Amino acid sequence: VLHLEGLRKRYGSADTEYEVLHGIDLRLERGEFAALIGPSGSGKSTLLNLIGLLDRPSAGRLVIDGAETATLDDTALTRLRGERIGFVFQHHHLIPAFTAEENVAMPLLIARGRPDAAMFERAGELLGRVGLADRRRQLANRLSGGQQQRVAIARALAMSPALVLADEPTGNLDTHSADEVFALLREVNRQLGTSFLIVTHDPRLAHRCDRIIELVDGRIVSDRANEVAAGRSPVQGSAEETE
Ligand code: ATP
Ligand code: MG
Repeated sequence: VLHLEGLRKRYGSADTEYEVLHGIDLRLERGEFAALIGPSGSGKSTLLNLIGLLDRPSAGRLVIDGAETATLDDTALTRLRGERIGFVFQHHHLIPAFTAEENVAMPLLIARGRPDAAMFERAGELLGRVGLADRRRQLANRLSGGQQQRVAIARALAMSPALVLADEPTGNLDTHSADEVFALLREVNRQLGTSFLIVTHDPRLAHRCDRIIELVDGRIVSDRANEVAAGRSPVQGSAEETE
C-alpha cells in the first residue's frame, strides 16, 4: 500500500537549507498495523506529512497504493489523498458547531459536492462502528475528548481509505481513553483490513503494534516485527502451533 525509496526532505532555502529526512526506505503492505517512534524532532511528523501528501518530498520516490506520486499534479494529489488516505491527528480538528454525524460526513460532502441521504447513512454506520451510535446528533464540542477522537476516527474512515496515518492519536487523552481509542484503531485494522501507520510517544502503545519503526535524526535506525502484538507471545504461540 506504501513504498518509499530514498525519500528526503529539506526545509529552508539556499544558504539556510537543512535536511530533516536523509533518505527513507520503507514498504508497508496492505493490512499492516505499524508504529513509528523516535525522539522529538527526529522527523516523524515530517515523514507522515510527506506520506499523507500534505507536503512534497525534496527527493526520492513515494508510491501510494500503486500511484507514483512524483508524476502527479496538485489536483491528482489532492484526489489521491482524499480517496486513499485517512488522517487522525493529536488534535481532532472537528468542526465544533457541527454534529458528530456532520463531521463524519464532511469528507464525503467534499468529494461529492453536495449532501445526500446516503452520506448521513454512512456517517451513522461509521459512528456505530466507533461506539457512538447514540451520539449522532450531538454537537462535536459537547463530546468528551475520547469521544471526539472517536468521531475523528470515523471521519478518517469515511472514504474507505487504504491507509490511515495517525500522528499521536492518543496524545491528548488520559490513559483509559487512550487505551480505548487505540483498541478501536486495532479493531478497524482487523475488521476492515485498513493499513495503519501510527506515530506514538507511548512505548506501551507501540508494543501493541505488529511492527515498530524507529526514526532517529531523519533516518530509520530500526524496523522490526513485534511478535507479542501479533499474538505470538510464548504461551499463546505454542498453543496455536499444535493446531
Ligand atoms: P515530535 O515528536 O516533537 O512531534 P517529530 O519527530 O514529529 O517531533 P518533526 O516535526 O518532523 O519532528 O520535525 C523534524 C525537524 O524538522 C525539526 O528539527 C523541525 O524543527 C523541522 N521542521 C519541521 N517542520 C518544519 C517546517 N515546516 N519548516 C522548517 N523546519 C521544519
Ligand atoms: Mg511530530
